[in-house]
Amino acid sequence: YKAKSVRSGHHVYRSADNRHGDARLRTVQELRLALTEDQLVLHYQPKICLRTGFVAGVEALVRWNHPERGLLFPDQFLTLVEETGLMHALTQEVLRKALDQSVLWSDQGRTLTIAVNLSGSSLVDADLPERVGAMLSARGLLPTALMLEITEDFLMADRDRARDILTRLRASGIKISVDDFGTGYSSLAYLRDLPIDELKLDQSFVFPMADDVRAAALVASTIDLAHGLGLKMVAEGVENGVAYDELVRYGCDYAQGYFMSRPLSAAALDEWLTARQSAATLP
Ligand code: C2E
Ligand code: MG
Ligand code: MG
Ligand code: MG
Repeated sequence: YKAKSVRSGHHVYRSADNRHGDARLRTVQELRLALTEDQLVLHYQPKICLRTGFVAGVEALVRWNHPERGLLFPDQFLTLVEETGLMHALTQEVLRKALDQSVLWSDQGRTLTIAVNLSGSSLVDADLPERVGAMLSARGLLPTALMLEITEDFLMADRDRARDILTRLRASGIKISVDDFGTGYSSLAYLRDLPIDELKLDQSFVFPMADDVRAAALVASTIDLAHGLGLKMVAEGVENGVAYDELVRYGCDYAQGYFMSRPLSAAALDEWLTARQSAATLP
């Protein structure tokens, strides 16, 4: 009923652009359905400790299991989620799914910290720390089961607000990671004073490492910089053994990438972890 009145209003005002507008409106309606009909799924990418080779945790990455179009990736729908004001609902859904999965893993005796991505618009939600805390305790999970990844747009949009939210999250024991580090505009002085735990070096710095000594030098000094600030460093986008070995040599703490594993469904991750465990116990 509501959608119909929106549609007719739309027809009157933007008739020239009607076909495009209709397709968009349909997608928005589909997006609402995705949330109410449970069409979002999480895939999980392992995060490897470079010192021990152990799996330290996983990053939850959202996908939309669209009834007609198949599995859609974040770059195909996240902008629209943001524009239509549905990001808050998506974040809730992703957190709920991630923490439910965390309970299953813990029941299976797997200790995996799960990292969830937050968009810049999460800043409007001043109650985020309390809500996340309640979600954890309702499931009997420790705050250390969760890590939150924020990007520089989150940090720079409203600095005081960002600092306040991060301080409260971190006080409760949740770890904070700065995602896509190096691609935004946050100053080093600002980062130095923020309550954060790790920097996640953007993949655009990691890709050229294997063939370019200057790119490798930049990565090496950024790792030292993170350590100088008392932060852990994670490299993302590790696609080959050359990059992996160099990161180990430079003292990088953690790595993620296709070289180790693509993001996997929960079932596929379970197989991957089991195979890796038995490989590790071979003589
Ligand atoms: P991100 O958080 O920086 O995640 C890393 C992206 O790089 C993921 O893409 C991952 O699949 C991909 N990747 C990992 N290793 C490699 C590699 O070795 N090579 C290459 N070429 N790519 C690699 P994905 O899953 O398509 O996600 C894209 C972005 O969407 C994420 O970037 C994140 O910013 C956003 N996103 C994903 N899930 C969520 C979510 O639940 N909430 C929010 N707000 N954003 C999300
Ligand atoms: Mg991330
Ligand atoms: Mg990233
Ligand atoms: Mg990214």
